[in-house]
Amino acid sequence: MSDLTELTLPQTLHALREGEFTSLELTRAYLARIERLEPDLHAFITLAAEQALEQARLADRRLQPNRRGAKTPLPPLTGLPVAIKDVLCVQGLPCTAGSRMLENYIPPFNATVVERLLAAGVIILGKTNTDEFAMGSSTENSAYGVTRNPWDPQRVPGGSSGGSAAAVAARLAPVALGTDTGGSVRQPASFCGVTGIKPTYGRVSRYGLIAYGSSLDVVGVLGHSAAEVAMLYRLIAGHDLRDATTLDLPVDEPFPSVSDHSSLKTLRIGVPDEYFIQGIQPAVEAAVRQAIQVFQNDLHIEVLPVSLPHTEYALPVYYLLAPAEASANLARFDGIRYGPRLPAEALWDVYCQTRGEKFGPEVKRRIMLGTYALSAGYYDAYYAQAQKVRTLIRRDFERAFEQVDLIAAPIAPTTAFRIGEHGDDPLAMYLEDVFTLPANLAGVPGLAFPVGFDPQGLPVGMQLMGRHYQEPLLFQAAHAYQQITAWHLQSPAV
Ligand code: GLN
Repeated sequence: MSDLTELTLPQTLHALREGEFTSLELTRAYLARIERLEPDLHAFITLAAEQALEQARLADRRLQPNRRGAKTPLPPLTGLPVAIKDVLCVQGLPCTAGSRMLENYIPPFNATVVERLLAAGVIILGKTNTDEFAMGSSTENSAYGVTRNPWDPQRVPGGSSGGSAAAVAARLAPVALGTDTGGSVRQPASFCGVTGIKPTYGRVSRYGLIAYGSSLDVVGVLGHSAAEVAMLYRLIAGHDLRDATTLDLPVDEPFPSVSDHSSLKTLRIGVPDEYFIQGIQPAVEAAVRQAIQVFQNDLHIEVLPVSLPHTEYALPVYYLLAPAEASANLARFDGIRYGPRLPAEALWDVYCQTRGEKFGPEVKRRIMLGTYALSAGYYDAYYAQAQKVRTLIRRDFERAFEQVDLIAAPIAPTTAFRIGEHGDDPLAMYLEDVFTLPANLAGVPGLAFPVGFDPQGLPVGMQLMGRHYQEPLLFQAAHAYQQITAWHLQSPAV
């Protein structure tokens, strides 16, 4: 067998079951690749090599009888290595959230999504790099160093799930979990040329996720194709008693009849003008428009213009609401309840020492912004006002989804930018998020997938957004596209 890390997810799972190789061999292959490429890419904050090998041996023990012909049903992902963004708790492994504040935190429990993947039989290779507390669009805000884009090491992988996206793109892991509060699955997926789902808000449990903006946060999956991402999505989604915002609705099979595209022919895709604004890189617009043509001409899906008139307000609304929620969520990191307690005379000084020293500059900026927006006298003018506009944005989507089933749009105005390019300009960084924030504010699902390259050879992605809980439709449409195109099969030469 050549390089095991080059197989698709279905090929890998099939081969594991047939005994063409063991989970231990597979896990070793990924660890060897990590060892070779990680020094250049830095996709991981924590590697769990020993533990992964141990889990792999256990998986092999379970797979063994079936290879000899026994017909015991096995969990669907038995023996498959995965990577987990370092804002999700994995029992016994450090969980830093990219912050010095949590440098010594080892959770005594698993996040629900981790629990569900482990029950499905996975092996955890490690915890991937992220902007501190998932605040950022480049992983440059990580306290543990920047991750490099496998397509061009001088560039960012996007963020905040940049470690997960880079790991999947460079085949350091076949699939990975990320989170998306304002684009953090979709934008790095786009920058790294992989596929990623931001599910409907409330579709996937947030239990065991280090909270950033609790009304926006959602856990998603990154992989190479819609079909692969759907496989893991189906396993992590669904009701959880430990997260009251999860809905008690069954999770539909992403592919009711696997490769049957005929049902797609009755679909309508809307293209919002508001997403093709000045400042969008011409190569990004061209690739996205070309992909929309494929849906129209080759998959015979009706394409029509739609309007989401409040799109331009998504950025100011998000950058009030998310920091407001963050300022409340991060209040617990005070050196008493969470975080290292730095020595000081008075209680107040303990707070100041700990928070002053252990939070990075972007996190502090957001705590200040959010605290200000929530403070007496400003609450109505900022927080309350932003909530009202959030409702308008949500209504934009409701109205558009009366006319169409899916909305097609770019993910980011540019392809991956250079490390340091947005250096001291937080606003320039926030502007990267214009096209991803609306879906989070409206709570609708979005699926990112690669649709081309810019003249520098950097991947361009696009997103399909859908009605609440219609992830299956997103997967089916992207799957149909990926069956007749090859963008998702391209790999960086690392
Ligand atoms: N880039 C956005 C931010 O900085 C979104 C981050 C996210 O989705 N976690 O807040």
